[in-house]
Amino acid sequence: MGLERTVDVAVIGAGLAGLAAARQLHRDRLEVVVVEARDRVGGRTLNHPIGDGKIVEVGGQWVGPGQDRVLALIDELGLPTRHCGDESGTGGSARLLPRTARRPRPAHPAHAERFGHQDDGRLRHRPDAATPIDYIEKDWSADEWTRGCYGAFTPPNTWTEYGPALRAPVGRIHWAGAETATIWMGYMDGAIRSGERAAAEITALLGETRRATVASAGRTR
Ligand SMILES: Cc1cc2nc3c(=O)[nH]c(=O)nc-3n(C[C@H](O)[C@H](O)[C@H](O)COP(=O)(O)OP(=O)(O)OC[C@H]3O[C@@H](n4cnc5c(N)ncnc54)[C@H](O)[C@@H]3O)c2cc1C
Repeated sequence: MGLERTVDVAVIGAGLAGLAAARQLHRDRLEVVVVEARDRVGGRTLNHPIGDGKIVEVGGQWVGPGQDRVLALIDELGLPTRHCGDESGTGGSARLLPRTARRPRPAHPAHAERFGHQDDGRLRHRPDAATPIDYIEKDWSADEWTRGCYGAFTPPNTWTEYGPALRAPVGRIHWAGAETATIWMGYMDGAIRSGERAAAEITALLGETRRATVASAGRTR
C-alpha cells in the first residue's frame, strides 16, 4: 500500500495544540491527518513512569482558575484532578524530593499528610524524605523537537511587537501552538485555544469551499 493520501488538512505536531486542532477539524467533518516527529503524542506534556503504576510529570501539569479551555477539556474527558492548594514547588518531581524540606511554608492538609508537619502549620519533611528514592531530570532544551521550555525562548518585546505575526497564515499554512495564543500564552490552555483558533480559520476557509462545491454539484445533477 502506498503512503500517498489526500486529506483536507495535515496537522504537523501532536502536542496539545495540534491535537486540539485535529479534534476540532474532525468535528467539523474535515478529513485530517496528524504528522508527529516523535514516536509519541503529547509534546511538552510527558508522564515519566516511576514504577508501581505511578508516574511523575516532567512537562506541563498544573492548571488553575481562568484556564477555561483546558479545564473544559479535562471535564469533557472525565479526567481527575487533584487540588494542590496555593503551594508552588510541591507536586511533580517534588513527590520524590520535597523542596519544602528546605523552605518551610504554611502546610496544605494534603501535603502535610504526605510530607509531615509540625504544630505551627509549617511543613517539615519526614525523615524518609531526606533520602530520595530516585532522581529524574528531563532537559527539554536539548530535546530536538522542543529545544526550550517551558515556553519558547524569545527576547524582550518579541510578543508585544511581533505577536500577531506568529498567528498570521502564510499561504495555506495556519499556525497554532501555545506561543501563538492570546490568552494563557505558553501554557496548556493557550495551546488548546490556539489549536481551536487555527481549526476555526481552516474550517471557515475549507468549509466554504466544500459547501460551494457540494451546492454546485447538487445543481448540476
Ligand atoms: C517542564 C515543563 C513544565 C510545564 N508546566 C506547565 C504547567 O504546569 N502548566 C501549563 O499550563 N503548561 C506548562 N508547560 C507548558 C505546556 O506543556 C505547553 O505550553 C504545551 O504543552 C505546548 O503545547 P503545544 O502543542 O503548543 O506544543 P508542543 O507540546 O511543543 O507540541 C509540538 C509538537 O510538534 C512536534 N513537532 C515539532 N516539530 C515537528 C516536525 N517538524 N514535524 C512533526 N512534528 C513536529 C513535537 O514533537 C511536539 O509533539 C510546561 C512545559 C514544560 C516543558
